[in-house]
Amino acid sequence: MTAATQMPRVEECVVASCAYNHTGDCHAFAITIGSPDHAHCHTFVQLPLRAGVAELTAQVGACQRADCRHNEQLECHAPAIRVGPDNDLADCITYDER
Ligand code: SF4
Repeated sequence: MTAATQMPRVEECVVASCAYNHTGDCHAFAITIGSPDHAHCHTFVQLPLRAGVAELTAQVGACQRADCRHNEQLECHAPAIRVGPDNDLADCITYDER
């Protein structure tokens, strides 16, 4: 039997220049976080179109930041995350080093 799991919601993203950002929120189905040196949002993309699904709020599909206290086996277990400028234009600012 497998336990039901829920991915963490992206409760806010202030990166207005991303195609998935509508009004301070992310509408990608799921995002991927992580780079070797910081918690970059790899789903961030600057294109002249409005992307994603208007009815959905993005969730964290995967995260490569194993050094974050919310990370277990490269999955995020935070209740929700926020995305915004930090080391880069679009980073997970909920990242918390162990
Ligand atoms: S809170 Fe931590 S584990 Fe969750 S997406 Fe951000 S960096 Fe990854």
